[in-house]
Amino acid sequence: MIPVSLGTLVFLCLGGMLAGIFGAWIVSESRRRRRERLAFRDLLRCTMCGCEFEDHTAEPIARCPRCGTLNERNRASRL
Ligand SMILES: [Zn+2]
Repeated sequence: MIPVSLGTLVFLCLGGMLAGIFGAWIVSESRRRRRERLAFRDLLRCTMCGCEFEDHTAEPIARCPRCGTLNERNRASRL
């Protein structure tokens, strides 16, 4: 058995709990960002009229359903 003082034991327990909370927060945040990225993947905003529309095709350019302007997919912005 390894002799450990009470202060060291408390420090190790608190450190372990904080590490667990921090790890859970990191995992939760990465999952939230992944869900958000998937939710906004097909959402585009027209650069001319500001209309927001969904385009589920894989083409890099999508046509706005309101004004017909061609919009680049990589210019999509978050709401
Ligand atoms: Zn438009």
